[in-house]
Amino acid sequence: MLNLGTDEMAKYPFLAEAGKYLKDKGFTLDQFGTDPDLMPIIEKAYHRIEKASTGKIYHSELENLEQLDVEVFSFLIAVVLLKLSGMNTLIKRFSLAEARRAEKFLEKDLADFSDKTKEQLAVRIIKDLFSVNVQKHKEFFVIPVSDYLKHAVYFHEKEWKLVNRRIENGKVFLTSHESVRLIRKELDSYINSKIQEVSTPSMIDALKKPVEKLRLLSKKFSVPTMVSTEYPPCIKHAIDELNKGENLSHSGRFMLGTYLLSIGQTVSQIAPLFKNAPDYNEKVTLYQLNHLAGNSGSGTEYKCPSCEKVKSKDLCYATSDCDGIINPLQFKKKTTLHA
Ligand code: SF4
Repeated sequence: MLNLGTDEMAKYPFLAEAGKYLKDKGFTLDQFGTDPDLMPIIEKAYHRIEKASTGKIYHSELENLEQLDVEVFSFLIAVVLLKLSGMNTLIKRFSLAEARRAEKFLEKDLADFSDKTKEQLAVRIIKDLFSVNVQKHKEFFVIPVSDYLKHAVYFHEKEWKLVNRRIENGKVFLTSHESVRLIRKELDSYINSKIQEVSTPSMIDALKKPVEKLRLLSKKFSVPTMVSTEYPPCIKHAIDELNKGENLSHSGRFMLGTYLLSIGQTVSQIAPLFKNAPDYNEKVTLYQLNHLAGNSGSGTEYKCPSCEKVKSKDLCYATSDCDGIINPLQFKKKTTLHA
């Protein structure tokens, strides 16, 4: 188990020590609803979730030492609120935003040349949680090729291909940003699984209102989209990637956009799928989709690429159901409308 100080727990509150910390402090959930000093934390926790729901990263006041406990507690109470609301869509958004927040700290700590302890902690977190052995090598970080391959398999951009990396003595050279980026997917899944593992506490009066507000908030995200149970594997995979907040490659976005447009979805139905993308920008997304649909520029309507083309971009996840087809559009189509 990692031995963390309060400032480190404030940065990485999803680590087991944070829960233990609450217990060690001797606080009960009831106290958060009755103690005037603790009650504002409920509001802060709500704000933390609300911010995450919009895809933004919650800003922590780590400079203020007196606020460190509040930072840890607001995370823990946010988890309580989420569990009581039962809203999975909010849990997903929250874990993604918290993962992005932790990513920033990990990257900064890893590259902190002035404080060896911070660097060591970041290295330990990456090793203990995600089994990646990172070592500092001058201004770079090196990791064994086998660790690299296990994680880089999720990336399809050229720069992540092993042939495009600097490798020496069986180690891949990365920047601190790339080292942390490599575990992005796992970090999000880790936080999500930690939240899922927490048992739902009993409701207390002080939490009824924020929980109700969260349920209302989650309705904002049930955007009606045409979701098919019979999308081809490549399309399902691309949607999964976006849902997990992965940065789908340009070719992946092109394939997904042209496929969905071809089966009759509108630009406004497709656009929400991209909301979790780390680089999401509503205007750019709408512009690009309208461009693919032929609603702008030369008016050319772009066609869904062939399976061969999809394969060449490493976006094909063929199953036996794909046998005999040459374009994802030929995959059997049964579409249903979900909210
Ligand atoms: S074979 Fe075609 S439809 Fe199937 S996953 Fe690959 S690209 Fe998609």
